[in-house]
Amino acid sequence: MTFTETMFRWYEEWQRTLPWRGERDPYKIWVSEVILQQTRVAQGWDYYHRFIAQFPTIEALANAPEEQVLKLWQGLGYYSRARNLHFAAKTVMQQHQGIFPDRYEAIRELKGIGNYTAAAIASMAFDLPYPAVDGNVLRVICRFAGITDNINMPATVKHVTEICNRWIDQKQPGIFNQALMDFGSLVCTPKNPDCENCPLQNACYAHAHGLAAQIPVKINRIKIKERFFTYFFLVKEKKTVVQQRIGKDIWKNLYELPLWETQSALSREQVQQLAREQYLAASCKWLWSTATKLTHQLIHAEFYLIEPATLPHLKSYQKIIAIEELSQLPVSRIMQKFFLTQNF
Ligand code: SF4
Repeated sequence: MTFTETMFRWYEEWQRTLPWRGERDPYKIWVSEVILQQTRVAQGWDYYHRFIAQFPTIEALANAPEEQVLKLWQGLGYYSRARNLHFAAKTVMQQHQGIFPDRYEAIRELKGIGNYTAAAIASMAFDLPYPAVDGNVLRVICRFAGITDNINMPATVKHVTEICNRWIDQKQPGIFNQALMDFGSLVCTPKNPDCENCPLQNACYAHAHGLAAQIPVKINRIKIKERFFTYFFLVKEKKTVVQQRIGKDIWKNLYELPLWETQSALSREQVQQLAREQYLAASCKWLWSTATKLTHQLIHAEFYLIEPATLPHLKSYQKIIAIEELSQLPVSRIMQKFFLTQNF
């Protein structure tokens, strides 16, 4: 039996039950794939249902205000995914008459859609034979075929894609892609793959050579950048100041409290001095701190309460709102956690 036949047979019996399984609507496949890019299935499930309920069509998504899309995305992280979905929905309305493109190249051109997502949509919605090579597929193919190159290198991804191009089923490419994804999630898992019960066992290079724990080879060259954020919660008569993040940086367009970013952590004395200089505050009180890891960044955030005589003059991206309205704003996970500590 070939690799492909084995995958099809395994999938028939063991495929996962997922809300978007069997879906042929490219819009819904797209939404599910984007949600799953950095999110576990269990967490993504609810978000998918909420997203589709609120925006059942591309048109509904394109017409929604960005704030509403970001609010719905809150908690999932990687907000550029939501912004890109929204932007690309508008592109489909404006350049494709509201009809999702059915050619791989046109799908790939939409903002936020990379090779993997384009291939997933093209194969599942339109039966186009493009392999969707994600981390699961890289792992399965590298182990099975004995590829020991660094999977973070584009050349390795290209090599695996070429193999998949040869093995993909031309009539049912969507099933082939989903079978590999499920197989990588359930059997050929990152840790402790179930080699003993694996239907590929007899032909698998990694199993034959006792290398399942060593393959795939992953050498990370990404340097984690540390950032130091001091947030001021300015309270005056149950109102506070918030600001929208602008510019090219994390959490673009989300809201947060007034922020001071510094090269290193500030001492309490330095924070007191900053509060005096910026807000004429006689004192400020420490409320909460956290260290949160993002993909390439470690954010150290400290939160301080200031009760000034008057709220400061606002910059163009700031506004004053009632404290009880804070929970309605789209915010980062760090900000969301802070609000929870304060019972907002
Ligand atoms: Fe993966 Fe083990 Fe199966 Fe090889 S035998 S494909 S390493 S689960």
